Amino acid sequence: MKNSKRALVTGSTSGIGLATARVLASHGIDIVLNGLEPQQEGDELARELAGQYAVNAYYCPADLSRPEKIRQMMTDIGQAGGINILVNNAGIQFTSPILDFPAEKWDQIMAINLSAAFHTTQQALPMMLDDGWGRIINIASVHGLVASVHKSAYCAAKHGLIGLTKVVALEQAANNITANAICPGWTDTPLLNDQFKAYSKQHGVTFDEAKLGLIQSKAPYPRLVAPSEIGELVYFLCTDAARAITGTSMPIDGAWTAH
Ligand code: NAD
Repeated sequence: MKNSKRALVTGSTSGIGLATARVLASHGIDIVLNGLEPQQEGDELARELAGQYAVNAYYCPADLSRPEKIRQMMTDIGQAGGINILVNNAGIQFTSPILDFPAEKWDQIMAINLSAAFHTTQQALPMMLDDGWGRIINIASVHGLVASVHKSAYCAAKHGLIGLTKVVALEQAANNITANAICPGWTDTPLLNDQFKAYSKQHGVTFDEAKLGLIQSKAPYPRLVAPSEIGELVYFLCTDAARAITGTSMPIDGAWTAH
């Protein structure tokens, strides 16, 4: 593993995770993909990345809501040569007023959006320490910095993820291992579809009008962020130029959190 960069991107069969895997691979970084899709589908994606960018890539399906599945995945990755870049990206959303928020949805969001990053980090750190170099990048959200109604579990998990990032940064600062959180605003992925549909129904507007309406209800930038733009920031954090950047939470949000 020494001298080569190998990244695990969790939740990388779609959206920001897949775009990040593509950007990292385009810079010659070997990739471990993860998600819930069947092995064959993930293998196809991995073959596509390996072919297009001449890197090693493989797919490790694992349900990150289950700590024992994470342990198995990390053991398998360790046996396959380990990683020195960890991108904790997998995440889900569910919106509801807190009075009706289903407890099982709270538990699921906590498990996937927060606890999974604790487990992967704990198990990836020995690989990074062994390598003498590491990068941990947690895909949080603007909702790690500010709140919105109906997102109690999501906001709590993302605020928690930023706290976890800071602790890891403090503990590993002397070890050539950085930990940072990226805080995207509205980003063009399937995660937002339910919210756009609900807005479109509520306001009697088309899906595209709903997109613009919802975006501008929060951020002055009148467009969705492209998933690859998040990937480019992840890559920058993996370069030597970013070696002193640690413990930060970086918005990429069209000035949403500038209010
Ligand atoms: P997406 O729905 O396109 O992708 C989510 C990925 O996570 C998929 O690959 C899915 O398979 C995986 N995943 C979901 N549950 C999983 C589980 N239990 N185990 C393993 N993998 C699982 O969503 P996205 O928008 O690309 O979201 C990626 C991350 O970015 C999330 O953490 C999300 O909270 C965050 N984010 C998204 C936005 C946005 O506007 N899209 C904004 C801020 C933050």
